[in-house]
Amino acid sequence: MSECEAREVDRAQLDVSVVVPLANERETLEELYSQIAAVLAQEERCFEVIFVDDGSADGSWEVIRRLHAAHENVRGIRFRRNFRKAAALAAGFAHARGAIVVTIDADLQDDPRSIVALLRKIAEGNDLVSGWKQDRKDPFTKRIASRLFNFVCSRLTEVQLHDFNCGLKAYRRSVVETLNLYGDLHRFIPALAAQRGSRIAEVAVPHFPRRYGKSHYGGARLLEGIFDLFTVCFLSRYLTRPAHVFGVFAVLAGLLGGTAALMPVVGPASLAWPASVWVVGSALLLAFAGIFLSIGLLAELLTRLLHDRSASFVIAETLD
Ligand code: UDP
Ligand code: MG
Repeated sequence: MSECEAREVDRAQLDVSVVVPLANERETLEELYSQIAAVLAQEERCFEVIFVDDGSADGSWEVIRRLHAAHENVRGIRFRRNFRKAAALAAGFAHARGAIVVTIDADLQDDPRSIVALLRKIAEGNDLVSGWKQDRKDPFTKRIASRLFNFVCSRLTEVQLHDFNCGLKAYRRSVVETLNLYGDLHRFIPALAAQRGSRIAEVAVPHFPRRYGKSHYGGARLLEGIFDLFTVCFLSRYLTRPAHVFGVFAVLAGLLGGTAALMPVVGPASLAWPASVWVVGSALLLAFAGIFLSIGLLAELLTRLLHDRSASFVIAETLD
């Protein structure tokens, strides 16, 4: 059997699922598949390649259809419109059946041969292995933005990586099963995985300039990621106990409000402000304490109620 016939084998025997998120990348798909297949066949891995078409309008889906017809181990998912890369990865993860899941960008900026090094690191006992584009072949602005992003990200999330946002990654199945990706959260996957106790490693990988099409992410869009960083930090620490963070604000405001209320009564004889200012100030602070407390309790309620956020994408078709 020259290639592992994924539709025939027991699904449980699949070693590797390669997930490829793509938006308008028709030129590279055939070459990318051949390279991935050559690498994994040489490694004697039983694998599938899942192309996730994130709303392409350039005929990428027709190429995926052809690949699916020609190869037993090619699967495809087509979104109704562009739902962004994180959603494409999430859909691929939901459909992946391999014991290990590998992701790779579709544009051939990554080298499929790097997959071997990623798999080796997983075999050493890591749960998530991320590529590191050590010598990144992208415009200067993007390299600078990316450096800044990675620096801030590793400081705030306490995950020591050079390159959070490398498209090339390998995961144990259990890791992707618990990732809840939407928006642009794909940039923070290592932080999100670390939060769930995953063991994370990094390997330097080669990087090539884009040969076809154009990048979907400019330097500016990368910097927008800083806003997502606050969300990730908040979620990573307080997702299951939001009342703790709002509770601290409520207690602080309550203490300040109580003290202000007492000032005209027990404070020094010559106060800087008249009693009316202290009373109004105290009332405002106590109102804030109540608001923080209520927000905290509402957030706790949401945490209990909102388990299912899978509605972040809509699939038009799947090829199995
Ligand atoms: N991509 C996607 N949906 C999007 C944007 C990008 O599926 O909304 C895919 C894209 O086709 C590519 C990968 O994500 O396979 C990385 O995108 P890109 O190469 O534009 O990012 P860059 O390498 O420039 O950071
Ligand atoms: Mg790229």
